[in-house]
Amino acid sequence: MRGIIGLCLVSVFVSCATKKKVTPQPTKAPIIVVDSAKIKAETVQVPQIQNQDPEETSLPVILTTEDRVRLMMREGINKQADWTEAMHYDLRKPNYVIIHHTAQTSIAQTIRTFQVPHAKVSSHYVIGRDGQVVQMLNDYLRAWHAGRSKWGNITDINSMSIGIELDNSGKEPFSEAQISALLTLLDTLKTKYQIPFTNFIGHADIAPTRKDDPSVFFPWKRLAQNGFGVWYDESNLEMVPENFNYVDALRIIGYDVTNLKAAITAFKRKFIVVDVSDTMTAYDRRILYNVYRRYF
Ligand SMILES: [Zn+2]
Repeated sequence: MRGIIGLCLVSVFVSCATKKKVTPQPTKAPIIVVDSAKIKAETVQVPQIQNQDPEETSLPVILTTEDRVRLMMREGINKQADWTEAMHYDLRKPNYVIIHHTAQTSIAQTIRTFQVPHAKVSSHYVIGRDGQVVQMLNDYLRAWHAGRSKWGNITDINSMSIGIELDNSGKEPFSEAQISALLTLLDTLKTKYQIPFTNFIGHADIAPTRKDDPSVFFPWKRLAQNGFGVWYDESNLEMVPENFNYVDALRIIGYDVTNLKAAITAFKRKFIVVDVSDTMTAYDRRILYNVYRRYF
C-alpha cells in the first residue's frame, strides 16, 4: 500500500509539474518577462491522498519524508497570489539548539517514544549514556521537542531549532562519555549552521512553567567554556548598582517573565544550581548582573 501511495504521489507531482511549466531554465536567457511567466497560484492543487483498499481504511497513511516535504511545499504556496518561481534560494537553517534530558530509563525507550504515533514528540538527536549519538530527523526538518515555549520574542522555537535529548533520568549526573559526545555534536552543528554561541539553551529556559530539563546536574559552565551558551565571570563579580532591574535583565537575556517565579527558578537552576528557589538573593543578582553585562 505504501508503495502504491508513493507511486500515486509521484505521478500526481509529475503531472502537476508538467502543467505548471513556470521554472525558468538556467540555460535560457536570464531575463524573465514576469507577465508571460505568471500563472494563478490557485491552479496548483494539493494532492489528495486516498486509501482505497477497504480492508486497510483503518490504518494510518504512512508517508515518506520526501512525500511529506512535497505536500508541505504545495501548502506553502499562497493561492491569493500569482506565482512565478525565483531561482536563488535554499532551505531555512536552524539557528538555536535546545538541550533536554529524556527523564526516561534508556535510549531505546526514548527512541521508541519518538516512533509511536500517539506520542506526538520527537527530537533531532538522542545521546545515550555511553556517548552513542542517534540522529532521528534531518537537521532541516522541524522536530516537535520544544512544545509551547518562548525565548525573547520567538514563540515557535521548533521552527528554528535543533532538539537534542540526553538519556538521563533528571536525578543523576550526566556521564563523561555523554557530555563529550554532546560537545562534539554541538561543535559540528555550530560550525555547519553558524549558530551564535548565545543560542545554545535548555528546554527549561524556554518553557519555565512546564519544564525543568536539563536538570541541575547539567554542566552549563563547561559548555560555555567550550563556546556553547553563556556563563558569568567568577573572577570579576562586580557589585550590583542600586537601579539594576533584575526582571528586565532576565527578559532581555530571553526569559519569559510572564510568570516571574518560574523564570527565576529556571535562571537559578542553570547558574546557581545549589538553590533553585523562586526568589532572587543578593548573590543571585550579582550573578545575573554579571551575565547580563557580559553578553547582553
Ligand atoms: Zn525537554
